[in-house]
Formats: sequence, C-alpha cells, structure tokens
Amino acid sequence: PDEQKKPESTMPGLRKVRHILAVASGKGGVGKTTIAVNVAFALKQKGNKVGLLDADVYGPSVPVMLGISESPGWQDKMIIPAQKFGLRIMSLGMVTEKGQPVVWRGPLVSKAISQLLGQVLWGDLDYLVVDLPPGTGDPSITMAQLLPTAGVLMVTTPQEVALADVRRSIDLFTKFNLHIVGLVENMSYFLCGHSEEPIEIFGQGGGERLSKEFGLQLLGKIPIDLDLRKGGDSGVPLVVSAPDSVLGRIFRNIAEKI
Ligand code: ADP
Repeated sequence: PDEQKKPESTMPGLRKVRHILAVASGKGGVGKTTIAVNVAFALKQKGNKVGLLDADVYGPSVPVMLGISESPGWQDKMIIPAQKFGLRIMSLGMVTEKGQPVVWRGPLVSKAISQLLGQVLWGDLDYLVVDLPPGTGDPSITMAQLLPTAGVLMVTTPQEVALADVRRSIDLFTKFNLHIVGLVENMSYFLCGHSEEPIEIFGQGGGERLSKEFGLQLLGKIPIDLDLRKGGDSGVPLVVSAPDSVLGRIFRNIAEKI
C-alpha cells in the first residue's frame, strides 16, 4: 500500500503496526469479541507480534475476557498498553469507571476512538486486532474513516435475522473502501456429546449465503462450545488454555487464511 495515503500512519502509536484487522458484526451478542480475542491469540501462536484494541464503546468486554483489572500506564502523554499472555492490550473498559455504562455522545465517542487508535504505544506489531463496536452507528463510521487500510473480519451467526444487520455492516465498510478479508460464522452448530449429529440451534447456511452474495471467503465455522464460553468468563481464552483442541485448531486455521 502507498504509505503516503495512510492517514493512520500520521497517528504516532500506529506507525510501526504492519496490519490492522478490524473484527466487526451486524449486531451485539453474536460472539464478535470472543472471535477477536481467540483469533488474536491464534495469530500470535503463528509467530506474529500482536496487539488487541477493544474499541467496543457500547460494551468493552476484553478486560473481563482476559482478566485485566489494572489501569494502563502513561508515558509522555501516550498510553502504555497492558500485557497479557504475550499480547499488548488496550480497552475502553480499562479507562472507564468499573461497572459504569459508557454513555457518550457522538463527538466524545469519536474523540475517544481516535485517542485509542493514535495515542497508545503499540510499538512494533505485525497485527493490531481491533474489536469494533457492533452495527453501523457513529462509532463504526469513525473507525472506518480512521482506518482506511484495515482489513475487516465479519462475524455472523447462521440466522436469517442476523444476516440483515451483517449486510448493512458490509455495505458500510464497502462504502468506505475497506477490504473485507472474510466471514466467520459463529454458533454454527452444537455437538451434544451423545451423538455425532450436529444440532443447528440457530439454523444453518447463513455464512454460506453471505459468502456467495458478496463474493467473500467463509474463513471458518465456530460451534457453540462450553469451553469457549467458560474461557470467556474465566479470563483465559480457550485458544490459550487449549491450543491443540479442535477449536484451537479451527481458530489457527482462520488465522492462517487472514
Ligand atoms: P459480542 O462481542 O458479539 O457482543 P461476545 O463475544 O461478548 O459477543 O459473546 C457473548 C457471549 O456469548 C459471551 O458470554 C461468550 O462467551 C459467549 N459465546 C460467544 N461465542 C460462543 C460460542 N461459539 N460458544 C459458546 N459461547 C459463546
């Protein structure tokens, strides 16, 4: 890419970041953060230097998912990211009052997002994974404007009602000329342990339909999994605690295709 055209390279904290991978979803609760966190660690397991920015202004949940309770440090007006399991991490949840909802109006949200992007000392990174806010509101538009060279990983569930929101999100990122690297379908099926027959709790085929409709690669399908949920609640993501499990391999497979 033409370095001259990279507005984010004017943001001091991002100068040595080679790739930005924004993880997006049409709506909340589809597992966007779970995918962002586990893909970030899968990228690290492949030998990359990785940072994770939780920019979900509506519900920053990375600190809980990674068991981070400390506030970040400062150096020359720049924020020093936290370190966890070898990743550099920054989240809005680390700078807001614990348990307080983030109720910011438009201009403040934009300011907070651009500070998070530009004023964090990310240092030398192969990948900065950004957990975007869900949907197509102001925060997503601000991110799209500030990160014109980011690749976008879209997370969806198989359900038809979820697809309408994903389509709107894809349209938004396409309008801003962001490159969509592919789709991940989450909560695709459940294996109950008594039978090998997958139970398709949220229906089936959503990821494939979107993939055909937009000409995007379906990079992987993630089942509903008890250990994945427990990993999210306990502060140790599944890819970290069980890298060689079936799911650990699914996530590394996705990381390989990015
Ligand atoms: P989002 O970021 O889209 O709001 P989260 O990643 O926070 O969604 O996920 C919402 C909840 O669902 C979390 O408790 C998470 O652990 C759980 N979850 C997400 N994906 C799965 C999955 N494939 N299997 C089991 N639980 C999941």
